[in-house]
Amino acid sequence: MHGISMIQYKSAEAIEKVRRSCLIVSDALTRVAELLKPGVSGIEIDSAAEEVIRDHGAIPGFKGYNGFPSTLCVSVNEAVVHGIPSQDVFEDGDIVSVDCGSLFDGYYGDAAYTFAIGDVEKEVMQLLEVTKTSLYRAIDQAIEGQRLGDIGYAVQSFCERDYPYSVVRELVGHGIGEKLHEAPEVPNYGKRGRGIKLKEGLVIAIEPMVNLGRKHVAQAKDGWTIRTKDRKASAHYEHSVAVGKLKADILSDHSGIEEAIKNNANLKEISLKN
Ligand code: MG
Ligand code: MG
Repeated sequence: MHGISMIQYKSAEAIEKVRRSCLIVSDALTRVAELLKPGVSGIEIDSAAEEVIRDHGAIPGFKGYNGFPSTLCVSVNEAVVHGIPSQDVFEDGDIVSVDCGSLFDGYYGDAAYTFAIGDVEKEVMQLLEVTKTSLYRAIDQAIEGQRLGDIGYAVQSFCERDYPYSVVRELVGHGIGEKLHEAPEVPNYGKRGRGIKLKEGLVIAIEPMVNLGRKHVAQAKDGWTIRTKDRKASAHYEHSVAVGKLKADILSDHSGIEEAIKNNANLKEISLKN
């Protein structure tokens, strides 16, 4: 899906355009967080997210991308990513990864959040907490002078060494800008000090996909949904970030989502691990 191409380093102006698009995605995901509860379907949250995006004068970034039919990727429980929203309703105990993209003023935004509906098993809650924490550990590496491998290492070492989980190998983060998927690929595994040197102007979507059980995944018969082979749960969190001199600049924003989760009695908060 990504191929080999040149990295497009971005001007401050272009970075602001990616931020603008990312904040529209954040608004759409906040709306999702307000609506999610047992009995609601993927189609319902998809329509609501599309409405938020279009109200901003933006276009859903995923709809029509390589033929994908929807605004959101909705991936439940053992589904890792790329699930197609359906009439199936969410149930108490489900975890739901919701991934959203938008295109505004020529630039894409991309972010994702995995929600916990109702009484989610304790071991699955820990998977969500660890995966979300691994995203912020990876973002801490998105500073000038670090290397791409440091980002993957941050995710992998935390999830696979400090915890007994498995990082998905086949799916990776990516550069983002005038295209949804740009160079470079941003794996969630890697070695410290390896890969390209990060520098200002690099804008990437970092998106750990982490399995409770084994790392292996397969595509479902619908031609889109990626699920774990062992059918155990998988979690996914994503931010689009600009590499900074001293600190990464997180262009998407999960604070609205988290506020909405707090106010939604049907959802469980996902806390960070130390
Ligand atoms: Mg995404
Ligand atoms: Mg992405």
